[in-house]
Amino acid sequence: MEKSKHKYVFVVGGVLSGVGKGVTTASLGNIFKSKGFKVTAIKADPYINVDAGTMNPVEHGEVFVTDDGDETDQDMGNYERFLDVDLTSTNYMTTGRVYTTVIQDERSMKYKGKCVQVVPDIPKEIIRRIEAAAKKSDSDIALIEIGGTVGEYENILFLEAARMMKLRDPSSVAFVLVSYLPVPSHLGEMKTKPTQHASRALSSAGINADIIIARGEKKLDKPRREKLAVFCGVHHENVVSAPDVKSIYEIPLTLEQQDMGNKLLKVFGWPARKSNMSEWKKFVARNNRVENKVKIAVIGKYFGTGDYTLADSYVSVIEAAKHAALYNGVYPELDWVDSEVFEKDPSKIKKLEKYDGIIVPGGFGTRGVEGIIKAIEFARKRKIPYLGLCYGMQLATVEFVRNVIGRTEANTVEMNPDTKEPVIHINPNQEKNVRENHYGGTMRLGAYDCILEKGSKTRKAYGKRKISERHRHRYEFNNDYRELIEKAGLKVVGVNPESDLVEIVELADHPFFVGTQFHPEFKSRPMTPHPLFREFVAAALKNKK
Ligand code: GLN
Repeated sequence: MEKSKHKYVFVVGGVLSGVGKGVTTASLGNIFKSKGFKVTAIKADPYINVDAGTMNPVEHGEVFVTDDGDETDQDMGNYERFLDVDLTSTNYMTTGRVYTTVIQDERSMKYKGKCVQVVPDIPKEIIRRIEAAAKKSDSDIALIEIGGTVGEYENILFLEAARMMKLRDPSSVAFVLVSYLPVPSHLGEMKTKPTQHASRALSSAGINADIIIARGEKKLDKPRREKLAVFCGVHHENVVSAPDVKSIYEIPLTLEQQDMGNKLLKVFGWPARKSNMSEWKKFVARNNRVENKVKIAVIGKYFGTGDYTLADSYVSVIEAAKHAALYNGVYPELDWVDSEVFEKDPSKIKKLEKYDGIIVPGGFGTRGVEGIIKAIEFARKRKIPYLGLCYGMQLATVEFVRNVIGRTEANTVEMNPDTKEPVIHINPNQEKNVRENHYGGTMRLGAYDCILEKGSKTRKAYGKRKISERHRHRYEFNNDYRELIEKAGLKVVGVNPESDLVEIVELADHPFFVGTQFHPEFKSRPMTPHPLFREFVAAALKNKK
């Protein structure tokens, strides 16, 4: 039997989605890292979509972009933030991606005339991908989060891959079931039955959990822990409680208090190791002490489905704001403001007066755009600190050309393809993609270098001349307008050295007004906030109402 150099922890979900499987996976990685292991994390999404780029963020959550330009699941962002690493497309797969490879291999005779089958050829390709990610990062431990919950048709082939890996080398694979224990309000008691069913569903896929992480509003008590141990066939010490906490950054600590890391090392037959989480503990403790707030309006569309606000669509923006605010000793209070309100009733714009800062995050399409432009105008005129991320940068330039320079027809061609003043335009390549419906993976994606202008606020914030940031957009600033905006006071302070594309604009005569063509939020980390978010919050605090 071939022994694996790498160890693998599969994290699967039970009962319901959205209980924090991604953050739990990221937390396990954080714990292993604190024990001195080299760790990587992989997300396996059961969708047919080849990547998350073609999915509606309202339904699926944020599209997280890696340095190498993959459009991935938001959990990849959690991994990067908790592990403080830059991941690549090797760490992300979907059913669509797996099948595409198998079908392409079949077409190029790589199977040498053999009948190519769903089982074992699909799980084999999944295993190849998992092993490639572990190898590429040379990690001791690779965490693999399988999307969805056990018992669904969709993820069965990923479970099969995991089962095959366990069979091949039992001591190299561990299974963690992250399950939910509801406390129905009419009973007032925590119920274990759904988790028992989840465990049974997992068993029917040939897998037994080594560890059960019991998520719930409250802590798991002794009788329920024992019940789970008996009915799910897990040692009671391996049932770990993960109650709701104030901040997601507390979760590694909650788990490690119960010696989570060593429990998994034991499954691998590895000796226990001390974890060093002192920096993380200090960070969490500092956060818990924060009392004051900074009030930020986030303006756009995409905020609601039915009666719910889906902040998930912008999790990296939220986390980046948190990191920056906490660095500045405050907590961010983010209000999600639907820009269409300003279109229907322009007088409502005054509502923005009460905010210390305004963010316009990335977005697509035409809905709510005129309202966003009104909000940007308000931030500019009232000198409210403004941070525009991608669409927020593009629309800030449109607003400026319309209202400061007086070219009232200025627009992005995304709004009006025939505008006479295309401040934001599209290059011929991208035009062709749109014309031919080539949407998937064809935007300007991933990390690009940017040279910062001496003397700018942005350069001062970064403290260096050359930066690299992640992009995800189809449209660009039209360089025909460059001189015009610069002369009128909107400075181009960041440019891509190869393409001469405008990446950052900054208003000269304003406490803080910065727009970035890229998405700085993807690179913010808990203990090293992104420089632009950091300075934005600092300016917002100076403006505090
Ligand atoms: N819709 C704009 C574009 O495609 C901006 C995209 C974004 O904000 N990520 O260029």
